Amino acid sequence: MSRVYNFSAGPAALPEEVLQQAAEEMTDWRSNGAGVMELSHRSKAFMSIAEEAEADLRELLAVPDDYAVLFLQGGASGQFGLIPMNLLGDKQSVDYVNTGQWSNKAIAEAKKYAAVNVVASAESGGFNSVPAQSDWTASTDAAYLHYTPNETIGGVEFGFVPDAGAVPLVADMSSTILSRPVDVSRFGLIYAGAQKNIGPSGLTVVIVKKSLFGNAATITPDAFNYQKQADAGSMLNTPPTYGWYIAGLVFKWLKQRGGLDAMQAVNKRKADKLYAAIDASSYYSNPVAIDSRSWMNVPFICGDSSRDTEFLAGATEAGLHTLKGHRSVGGMRASIYNAMPEAGVDALITYMAEFERTNT
Ligand SMILES: *Cc1c(COP(=O)(O)O)cnc(C)c1O
Repeated sequence: MSRVYNFSAGPAALPEEVLQQAAEEMTDWRSNGAGVMELSHRSKAFMSIAEEAEADLRELLAVPDDYAVLFLQGGASGQFGLIPMNLLGDKQSVDYVNTGQWSNKAIAEAKKYAAVNVVASAESGGFNSVPAQSDWTASTDAAYLHYTPNETIGGVEFGFVPDAGAVPLVADMSSTILSRPVDVSRFGLIYAGAQKNIGPSGLTVVIVKKSLFGNAATITPDAFNYQKQADAGSMLNTPPTYGWYIAGLVFKWLKQRGGLDAMQAVNKRKADKLYAAIDASSYYSNPVAIDSRSWMNVPFICGDSSRDTEFLAGATEAGLHTLKGHRSVGGMRASIYNAMPEAGVDALITYMAEFERTNT
């Protein structure tokens, strides 16, 4: 069976080279006589895997020394609650920007722990654009300002890093991390579930400025206390070792391809050509404002939604899998993360044109 082009939003495609290396090392990692899944997290072998992965991630993102990089469990959704628990300190309120479904979920969870100010919302426009920062009503005494740089479901992405002033900026980068360079020093905290652009599900990466330590509520579980996990090298308890290892292979793969500047160029090209094909067609459409369109998740609808099933079946037959839109939105969604080759996007564009030609 040959591999297909997998447009899944997450868990998403991984680079084939990474999977092949993992397969080769599955039963015996570098002559240790055991596979990575079977190694103690305290073993020299796993420690070397862990340290190398962290060093490579730090290099790729140019993470400054005064930031901790944590490899945790619990998913991005876990962080929705853990962020206010860890960062509220003696502040009363937190600021959130609402650009869609993932922002909404983060807001709902934060409300359990803090007074939430929604400083801007794209709801009135149907969540089809990023609200201009000049219209935000940010507070100066919030514990942090949270936003979602890329809304995975709506396909809405920020083309800028918000200016939060002295308030720590917190970003859910689950579906955009590593897709382009980012100035980490602008952020108090960056977090991401791994299963979109880093590695397998079960791993959550948190990059946090150490000066934010000391604000955790006493009820915060130790396993999710950023400072305690940082002090323990993310090994206060057993970390997701296999996910950490695969993430490390992905980081090497990214470095081999020229790092994030190179990924940015490829990702922009992939997104530009797919949106250009959609815009040039009279059959397909994407509702997102041009300056807010995601490079990673491209939702689109067909002119005749009764043909969606046919479109998807034909796509699957052509080796273009998992293009069905999110259940809340319908239509189609092509997730084109780092691991989606440009040839996969080209094949999708060719299929779309052919479907349009033979069905309209
Ligand atoms: C997928 C996703 C999540 C949820 O991640 P889990 O790891 O399943 O909790 C949260 N935020 C964004 C932006 C996502 O894309």
